[in-house]
Amino acid sequence: MREAPVEPVEGLKFVKTFCGMCVALCGIQIGVDGNNRSRVVFSIREHPQRSLCGRSASSLWLWRNALRLKKPMVRVGEKGEAKFREVDWDTALNSIASKRLKR
Ligand code: SF4
Repeated sequence: MREAPVEPVEGLKFVKTFCGMCVALCGIQIGVDGNNRSRVVFSIREHPQRSLCGRSASSLWLWRNALRLKKPMVRVGEKGEAKFREVDWDTALNSIASKRLKR
């Protein structure tokens, strides 16, 4: 488990929060630089749910990944063709809801 350094890290301010990627809600702290950019993630030593799994540890990499979806997409081609177009959230949610109601 990666724990925050005992000594302060020059240039980083640590912000305590929790990881919401699963129901465990582990206590984590984010090292933020002077430009308010998240740099590192550590567990919180004194938190009752003290963990930092691989999912949480890779969160900053995932967040900044160029391939991360930022808007809903719908398939416009055949399955497997990898053809998609962007849609707004209302369109995406209505599409999902109508498919669920057909089941
Ligand atoms: S750090 Fe891992 S185990 Fe903890 S809440 Fe996040 S995803 Fe769940």
